[in-house]
Amino acid sequence: MSNKIIEKILPPPPPHMVGDGFRVHNFFPSGYNISNSRMSPFFMMDYNSKVDFSPRETPRGVGVHPHRGFETVTIAYHGKIAHNDSTGNSGVIGEGDVQWMTAASGILHKEFHEEEFSKKGGPFQMIQLWVNLPAKDKMSKPKYQPLTNAQLGKYKLPNDGGVVEVIAGEFKGVKGAASTFTRIEMYNIKIKKGSSVSFDLPENFNTGILVVEGSVKVNGENAPADNFILFKNEGETISLEAQEDSVLFVISGEPINEPIAAYGPFLMNTHKELEEALDDFSQGKFGHLED
Ligand code: MN
Repeated sequence: MSNKIIEKILPPPPPHMVGDGFRVHNFFPSGYNISNSRMSPFFMMDYNSKVDFSPRETPRGVGVHPHRGFETVTIAYHGKIAHNDSTGNSGVIGEGDVQWMTAASGILHKEFHEEEFSKKGGPFQMIQLWVNLPAKDKMSKPKYQPLTNAQLGKYKLPNDGGVVEVIAGEFKGVKGAASTFTRIEMYNIKIKKGSSVSFDLPENFNTGILVVEGSVKVNGENAPADNFILFKNEGETISLEAQEDSVLFVISGEPINEPIAAYGPFLMNTHKELEEALDDFSQGKFGHLED
């Protein structure tokens, strides 16, 4: 095994608002000049770095909108997000929880700050990833995996050095909570200052680490908070040394080597499939959800 080579350490690009509830840095595909297949199966990553929202009676967020052809994965670090969708699923993503929603053939959903959080206000920090689906699964039935923090796999770092929460895949024998369509590794590494950990991820998997909190040395290079470490497809081993108490979000996945046709909330293989998605949406085939 050799060290996984770092391609770039990217600072957060300028933020933009998604609705009025999410102030996000888009690391890929549009925030930097990264091709839309570079991180496949991960198509998009929006990062709401920690920001204070003032108290408000009416929750901020994004109203009813469609998705087709992929999955949305939402990870909450601070604050709470309320979700409702057209298949009848709803829930609250609390601090430390993960929601893995398979839009697949099509859903409508809305994403807002949870009501009590909104009334109180305070720090808000989350990630939303769009995970692509292979062609054969794009039109499968929508699915919803609300994963509470207690359900995530937990690997304890030696000498009380912290914990690795295994969202998907497997970390040193501890299995992740999410079921996935393609091979995906996804972890939150919560590591204490002065502690270190090494692990291997396949060379061909597209791999990155977002420093959610703290700062770390990664294979000898310093990465501060809110930076994204993009790895080349060279080498396997990642060695982390925490310079402060840190939280690191690790993603790694086997690329889906298929054409990508993307338009707004739809992620398909061909332009024709995008037109079908628009038609089906305008004909109400994604179901119904009240505003
Ligand atoms: Mn959405």
